[in-house]
Amino acid sequence: MTQGRVINVQCRCGQRLFKYFKGSHGRLIKCYLDEIREDYVGVLEMPVGSRPICPSCGKEIGIVRMIHGRPAVKINQGTVKQIRT
Ligand SMILES: [Zn+2]
Repeated sequence: MTQGRVINVQCRCGQRLFKYFKGSHGRLIKCYLDEIREDYVGVLEMPVGSRPICPSCGKEIGIVRMIHGRPAVKINQGTVKQIRT
């Protein structure tokens, strides 16, 4: 049995944002940077406190902050397409 899977995280405008290994079930709330497999927005280079934006429509994807001691993007639910696993 495998836990989790790689998902495509997309903006509501259709732009790919990143591929993310999601280890838990439920709604996508945050993406730990060390579980991002493909980064289309350059978020892996961003320091804590940054607000990455969609390269296509310019909307804010979320904010980079420490969550449980690991840098992560806290997802802006208004910009990112809803994902449930
Ligand atoms: Zn967009």
